[in-house]
Amino acid sequence: MLKIAIQKSGRLYEDSIKLLKECGIELNNGNKQLKTVAYNFPVEVYFFRDDDIPQYVYDGVADVGFVGENVFLEKGKDIDLVYRLGFGRCRLSIAVPKSMTYNTINDLEGLKIATTYSSLLQRFLTEKNVNAEIHEISGSVEIAPGIGLADAICDLVSSGSTLFTNGLKEVEVVLKSEAVLTANKNLSEENKNILEKLLLRINAVKTAKNNKYILLNVPNHQLKNIIAVLPGMKSPTVVPLAEEGWSSVQSVVNENVFWDVIEKLKRLGAEGILVVPIEKMII
Ligand code: ATP
Ligand code: ZN
Repeated sequence: MLKIAIQKSGRLYEDSIKLLKECGIELNNGNKQLKTVAYNFPVEVYFFRDDDIPQYVYDGVADVGFVGENVFLEKGKDIDLVYRLGFGRCRLSIAVPKSMTYNTINDLEGLKIATTYSSLLQRFLTEKNVNAEIHEISGSVEIAPGIGLADAICDLVSSGSTLFTNGLKEVEVVLKSEAVLTANKNLSEENKNILEKLLLRINAVKTAKNNKYILLNVPNHQLKNIIAVLPGMKSPTVVPLAEEGWSSVQSVVNENVFWDVIEKLKRLGAEGILVVPIEKMII
């Protein structure tokens, strides 16, 4: 049985549960309890505060944990980062009051910076050769300059609206973060196997999300040119249409090049282009 720790409630909770579900792992019930067992896969899911997850994975209370990379790095526990999960994206940034003139990182010299990420901030400042006073607080970092507790802050940002409403501007990015799968370094053989199966599923879900299945009608004289812009998994499927001189072409296109490919296909005379989401993709 593989014990997975996820955040009890908060920004990573929904996406963690959703990912497990997309991996076909059915959980008995919600997050009202400390743990729940999946009934169709040998995992047990534990619900913890995100800050505690690296320690619990290190101690073996859980075998693996889904946690923000920011928390993983800040805690500095000797556990493995196994997989980047692709949700919970944010940045750890330094922000100063809007009215402050800010040109270079040296403008932080001698300032008092409030943060809950003192170890990551210290590492960043040392790297940049800046001496600043780090003031560690446990929450509501964004109000620190407004109440005279600090000159600047270092906190997590995604849209930047919290900074904006607190009269702050983002001036340095300390770290770009996303949720990661961490694991204890001494997993049993059995749990290594389960983790491998879980990773195969996570990978299939993630790859599927980054790709679309497309179907299009193509005049036969353009088939060669169209196939050239459609790599597909191996090569595109080509099926003749009932109408003489036309074929249906089917393929998989990566999200990154998707619009580019669609434009090329249209220019080459493709018609009736259908784009279909893929649920799982195993390469
Ligand atoms: P807990 O009660 O578990 O300690 P928390 O308040 O510390 O919760 P959340 O605010 O729910 O934590 O954030 C959890 C994680 O979500 C962060 O550590 C970070 O990795 C990620 N995250 C993504 N976007 C943001 C954001 N805009 N602000 C804060 N965290 C974010
Ligand atoms: Zn937390």
